[in-house]
Amino acid sequence: MPTSSHSYPMSSGDDQHSYIHNSSYQKSGIDGIEEKTRRCILENFDLLSLNCNLSTIRIADFGCSTGPNTFHVVQNIIEAVKENRENSLVPLEFQVFFNDQPNNDFNTLFRTQPPSSKGEYFSVGVPGSFYGRVLPRNSIHIGHTSYTTHWLSEIPENVCDKNSLAWNKYYIHCNNLLEDVTKAYKVQFTKDMKSFLEARANEIVPQGLMIVLGQCFPDGVLHFETWQGVVVDRIGDCLMDMAKPFCFPRRE
Ligand code: SAH
Repeated sequence: MPTSSHSYPMSSGDDQHSYIHNSSYQKSGIDGIEEKTRRCILENFDLLSLNCNLSTIRIADFGCSTGPNTFHVVQNIIEAVKENRENSLVPLEFQVFFNDQPNNDFNTLFRTQPPSSKGEYFSVGVPGSFYGRVLPRNSIHIGHTSYTTHWLSEIPENVCDKNSLAWNKYYIHCNNLLEDVTKAYKVQFTKDMKSFLEARANEIVPQGLMIVLGQCFPDGVLHFETWQGVVVDRIGDCLMDMAKPFCFPRRE
């Protein structure tokens, strides 16, 4: 599958506007499931059933951005696997694949890697869209992704078409106010998620694990009813106001 020609990576570098300094919200979500992730690995990741001579555990983080959350996640996964190591007959080594879009700031990612990671694992950068294959078949033991799969591969059909029922009118996101828009986003999400899961199914070994963390609402909760929906709608209003003079130039 081709990488979208419109790909928008996180803010690069390490200044105050960079993802590095603006990702504590995502970090709190990751922290929230840390114990669940650990238990999932302890209970389901059986080194013996994978291969009793396995000496290299390969981990991949899909949509890693520039850090630091990815380093935190990887370290936790490694620690959980080590807790299980009595199952292993040989000393373990770890190889970590950091995947993101080609225009992600991989330089900052590797430049800011914690020094402690050096003795812990071998790192590899994997540029490419996770909506297609980015790694060889049966090569990964544990896959991870967080706060990524809401990044659709393309704008859903017709939401920008003024003549369509699915036109998103004056909104900048899918807030569930317009049924046809919600439907268009659902269709695109279903298509993208299928591609994501198919690619990972090929890349991850049988008995391997895939950890997926993302934002969801319970059935029946509509986006515009949540604080997040309200905030994004307000930002949308501001952007629309700013764009108005350009869309409707004043007559002198
Ligand atoms: N996982 C990190 C970063 C989340 S930000 C964390 O939890 O903090 C979302 C990241 O997904 C961005 O870096 C973005 O570039 C990446 N991303 C979005 N679409 C992608 C795609 N199709 N393929 C690979 N990475 C993608």
